[in-house]
Amino acid sequence: MISDDQDGPDETDGGPATKHNPVQELTEVRPLLAEQDERLVGLIDIAERLQEITGWDRDQLLDNIGCDERNPSELADDPAKIQRCESFLATLLDAAARVEGQGSRRGVVKRCARLSKAETVDVDGLVAALSHGKVSALEYFELGEIASGERVARVAAGIALAAQQIGPSPYDGLPTVHLSLPRIDIYVGKERGLLGERTAANIAAHIKGCKACETAVETRRQALLNSN
Ligand SMILES: [Zn+2]
Repeated sequence: MISDDQDGPDETDGGPATKHNPVQELTEVRPLLAEQDERLVGLIDIAERLQEITGWDRDQLLDNIGCDERNPSELADDPAKIQRCESFLATLLDAAARVEGQGSRRGVVKRCARLSKAETVDVDGLVAALSHGKVSALEYFELGEIASGERVARVAAGIALAAQQIGPSPYDGLPTVHLSLPRIDIYVGKERGLLGERTAANIAAHIKGCKACETAVETRRQALLNSN
């Protein structure tokens, strides 16, 4: 799968899903945890689904979202914290499930978790930042534009300045093209399959409703035809 996520693998990225079976690993600890406190079952369930789509084991998931909590019994004593963690993981799951491919899903989880590290962003703030705007961060993710999604979410959360707030730019007043050039070129080229079926369908649907992106795609299509 092709995404614009430039985050290379790091030591907590984990290997391919075949090396670990995170779901199995968690299944082993699950009866223990559930016995310990059934209030954690919902939280564990969401964590398992996140592990499944990212291919991370439990510690890798917690490392990558910057969670230092490893003691479930301490967590179980704080219902409000359980609720916050559950909402947070559910938000990450919803965002990550919108992209295709393990690498892209990991990228979305890491970027959303990074966003939530800002002092001013609680879980509700994260949800609001991800869904804010004419084309929201979540919609950018669906187009495969993960870095752009994070950027609009950071602006929406008030932790980054919008381009027009930074200073005059040659793009001021021009309609926004939401697709990056490399993705447009893949979309109009022979390698469209690299985008993932669902992402390609999302792009097709977006173009129908977005004149700027439609024009950009048609321009590149013509350029490609002329070069052949
Ligand atoms: Zn567009």
